Amino acid sequence: MTFFDPQLFRQQFPLLVDNDKSNFEKSDSNTGLIYFDNAATTQKPKQVIDSQQGYYQELNANVHRASHQLSTKATIAFENARALTQKFINAQHINQIIWSKGATESINIITHSLARNTLKQGDEIVLCVSEHHANIVPWQIVAEQTGAIIKVLPINALGYLDVNQLDKVITEKTKFVACAHISNVIGKINPISLIIEKAKSVGAISVIDGAQAVAHVNIDVQALDCDFYVFSAHKMYGPTGVGVLYGKQALLESMSPYQGGGEMIKTVSFINGVTYNTLPFKLEAGTPNIAGVVTFAESIKFLSPLLTSVDNNYALYEKSLIDYCYQALSKIPQVTFIVEGAPDIPVFAFTVVGHHNQDLAIALDAHGIAIRSGHHCAMPLMETLSLRGCLRVSLAAYNTRAEVDYFIDCLQSLINDNHTMDNNIENNIVLL
Ligand code: PMP
Repeated sequence: MTFFDPQLFRQQFPLLVDNDKSNFEKSDSNTGLIYFDNAATTQKPKQVIDSQQGYYQELNANVHRASHQLSTKATIAFENARALTQKFINAQHINQIIWSKGATESINIITHSLARNTLKQGDEIVLCVSEHHANIVPWQIVAEQTGAIIKVLPINALGYLDVNQLDKVITEKTKFVACAHISNVIGKINPISLIIEKAKSVGAISVIDGAQAVAHVNIDVQALDCDFYVFSAHKMYGPTGVGVLYGKQALLESMSPYQGGGEMIKTVSFINGVTYNTLPFKLEAGTPNIAGVVTFAESIKFLSPLLTSVDNNYALYEKSLIDYCYQALSKIPQVTFIVEGAPDIPVFAFTVVGHHNQDLAIALDAHGIAIRSGHHCAMPLMETLSLRGCLRVSLAAYNTRAEVDYFIDCLQSLINDNHTMDNNIENNIVLL
């Protein structure tokens, strides 16, 4: 697809088409699916699904190693995916794209292979309070190992990282600043350019977690001038088990191997020891997820034209969904958003006065509506907002106003139904 048409776009997703609620009798409310859990993972378009099967049927061989033609073909497809990824985020060189299992592993590579080697007692790592655990726990581990200290940037009432606090929190002691481009709960685009600039001004390394941004925002790592940018394929209509670590060349060069094994070495000898391969292979030990990487190329081909199209229709459609859903939720008096103002991507986090989050999520599921409840891997954010959890509704560009209407009707009637809900319960019970 090179242009965006909401209906045509939706038609590309077999799981949605096969389970479209409008295909079923209205009287049987639990048939069909409304998938509103896109921040967790998106559905996959047919060309991505077909690509996976096509790879195994036509190309399957190990990459980089053999001298036979099939391996050469697989290697070309695998490295073409790297080139597409380089173009997708506008990295300068192809060897700045390192494959990982996902954003989580990409961050762990940075903490394990760089931060662990460079941090000293009393050095500071700055994180935002709304980070996903994937961008907290690896830093906590490395802080424990090195004696470094974690400092936390707060958010403002709107849920954006509070730039007024930058000068106070990021200082000469700061060695790493790691923050999400967009929080997976709040859905607001953080002012990362300011953060990257501030990190640079004190000589700190900037790490941007783009897991929630890549499906919605066109990324240009050279324009951002961040040191690292990480993301997962499965949140941008691609396969699970594939992630990207982008890094500035000199930093990647300076990193020690993450894992040892095949592919990441130049020479191995019991007499002379080991010498390592060049980038990107030095950081990619063992047989990679070849089918996943090749399939990921299809999701880039699918998404990239929509993110960069001059008509901007993909972004405009998402914006119309945001406005529509935000207004509809705002009209329900019992709905309390966890931060003020409409989100920048279609992710809505809220609680419902007098109702358990999990009860509502389960009741909605019985109507065929998939949403999420809990802490969303952002326990420090919940702690800060004095919440023990919340509901999260996350849409993608294949969702429709009709689906939002159906969801709002169901939510409203569940709220109104005092027989099935216990209104005396404590709100926001912890749900793991
Ligand atoms: N960061 C953010 C903001 C996320 O939303 C997620 C996934 N929920 C991750 C990191 C981790 O991604 P993955 O589980 O694909 O490694």
